[in-house]
Amino acid sequence: MDETLKTILEAAGNAMMLVDAGRRIIMVNRPFEKLAGFRAEEVVGRDTALLSADCHDQTFCAAMDEKIVAEKGWMGDLRLRRGDGETRTIRLSVKDLGPGPESARYLYIYHDDRTSAEALRIHQSNIDGLTGLPTAQIFRDRINQILITSRRIEKSVALLLIGLDRFSRINDALGRNFGNLVMKETAARLISCIRRSDTAARLGGDLFAVITPITSLDDSVIVAEKVLKSISRPFEIDNSSVVITSSIGISLYPTDADDPENLEEQATSALGYAKRRGGDRYQFFDNEMNSRAKKRLELESGLRTAISRQEFLVYYQPKVNVLTETIVGMEALVRWQDPVRGLVSPAEFIPAAEETGLINQIGYWVLHQACAQNKKWQEQGLTPVRVAVNVSSRQFLEKDMVDRVRTILRETGLGPDFLELELTESMLMGDIEKNITKMLELRDLGIRLSIDDFGTGYSSLSYLARFPITTLKIDRAFVKDLGTSTSTVEIARAIIALSQGLKLEIVAEGAETQHHIDFLKSHGCDTVQGFFYSPPVPAANFEKLLAALQLHGVAWR
Ligand code: C2E
Ligand code: MG
Ligand code: MG
Repeated sequence: MDETLKTILEAAGNAMMLVDAGRRIIMVNRPFEKLAGFRAEEVVGRDTALLSADCHDQTFCAAMDEKIVAEKGWMGDLRLRRGDGETRTIRLSVKDLGPGPESARYLYIYHDDRTSAEALRIHQSNIDGLTGLPTAQIFRDRINQILITSRRIEKSVALLLIGLDRFSRINDALGRNFGNLVMKETAARLISCIRRSDTAARLGGDLFAVITPITSLDDSVIVAEKVLKSISRPFEIDNSSVVITSSIGISLYPTDADDPENLEEQATSALGYAKRRGGDRYQFFDNEMNSRAKKRLELESGLRTAISRQEFLVYYQPKVNVLTETIVGMEALVRWQDPVRGLVSPAEFIPAAEETGLINQIGYWVLHQACAQNKKWQEQGLTPVRVAVNVSSRQFLEKDMVDRVRTILRETGLGPDFLELELTESMLMGDIEKNITKMLELRDLGIRLSIDDFGTGYSSLSYLARFPITTLKIDRAFVKDLGTSTSTVEIARAIIALSQGLKLEIVAEGAETQHHIDFLKSHGCDTVQGFFYSPPVPAANFEKLLAALQLHGVAWR
């Protein structure tokens, strides 16, 4: 038996015991005998289960064991069964002493009286149990003190908030234990990047903070770059190697703020900005960013209420055959009727909806609406036309996308022939094989697929030939410049020739003038969509166009 351990146990005021790797009791001290009502010889060699009351079931014990393994310790309240059969609640901490030549593996410390429980509580709220770093509470105290001192000696201070990029994915994919180990290692790397005079803390979750006195802006850049680099080194844990990047938001005292709350708020918004820009970077706070962030927040919360209050509308824009001037299709385009701002363009809110994930709700609502409306027009006896609906990248990547489209077709009763989905090249570029499979599944439903805004994305021609699409839509940027730029004319001509070569239908967007129409017609692009014929209009107006088409063979003039 390790003499040091023995001495510690004998001298300790708290009840303690040493336990081996198989949870067998090796030694207990005097206070333990008093607390537990057992003599040493009655418990040594026995299993620790002897001491636990029946109220602790298997799950409790398993969870405790798991934590001891993962975090090298455990602390919590436990029902102890005394030698006289009585049970009482007591706080226990278990420390893993690590494997060694000695048989003693775990040290159990019982915290009996209120004072030690209180001391423990304070310790726990000051030090993060997982990483050993100060907690948020202590950190805020320290910022306060540091700012007071800095004010007196007229020094500057930088606050760095550090978040791991997409950390929840690591937790989901590799488990919480793995995540915890990453967190511990991150804390260690963070410490290695800062000076003794700096303070690091874990504010919660995957959010860390460093506060460092600086003499110039460069000082904070140096720390930030060191941290980014250090965290991006692979984490080698349990035979896996994982690369995790981080983002850092930086605010400066006294330039940005002269009180702790504002300083933290600004570093938080800088961090958010860094993450939105893709992560793996640091970002200084600036005021303009703040007003942009505020606008963004307003937009986001506006979008949430817009969904619950059903403030969205679908407009329809005809696709017209330039030779016959009949309506051959339509595109459904969402609008947001905001009670304060009026009609908001999708260009403004779709990106925010993408980022927050609200796009799924909006997107499927539009799809449902467009299919139901189209079916209704057909039932009214109007000329049947196909409706095209835009799909956002996030929506397309959802696992159950094909199922949801299938369900909507079933619910609305619209024939699949009358639905087209508009995709963009960039959303198809990630996992090409998987995306092609998904497109084939959509085609199997009987619907058509088009590539929207063609010419603005990667335009990887070799992939284009493999995509099971039916239609290319030339981006309106090319159509717009047809009268002014000879290179644009060449590009438009090439895109039309390409679609003919690949046997794809071609639609030109944004045709506004007679000149555009003439050019497109003479180059074999028969279908156009643009203000020349009609802007996107509310359903009631589109219905009138369809009715006129029915009556006169053409929808206008
Ligand atoms: P898009 O899919 O390329 O839609 C065509 C856009 O071009 C529409 O803008 C339409 O109003 C506009 N446009 C049509 N003809 C002309 C023209 O002759 N001249 C000019 N200058 N513009 C013309 P809108 O409705 O503002 O939509 C903008 C974008 O928002 C759409 O571009 C699409 O990417 C997105 N979007 C709209 N509705 C939805 C939706 O329901 N879901 C998703 N995911 N995105 C949508
Ligand atoms: Mg579109
Ligand atoms: Mg487009």
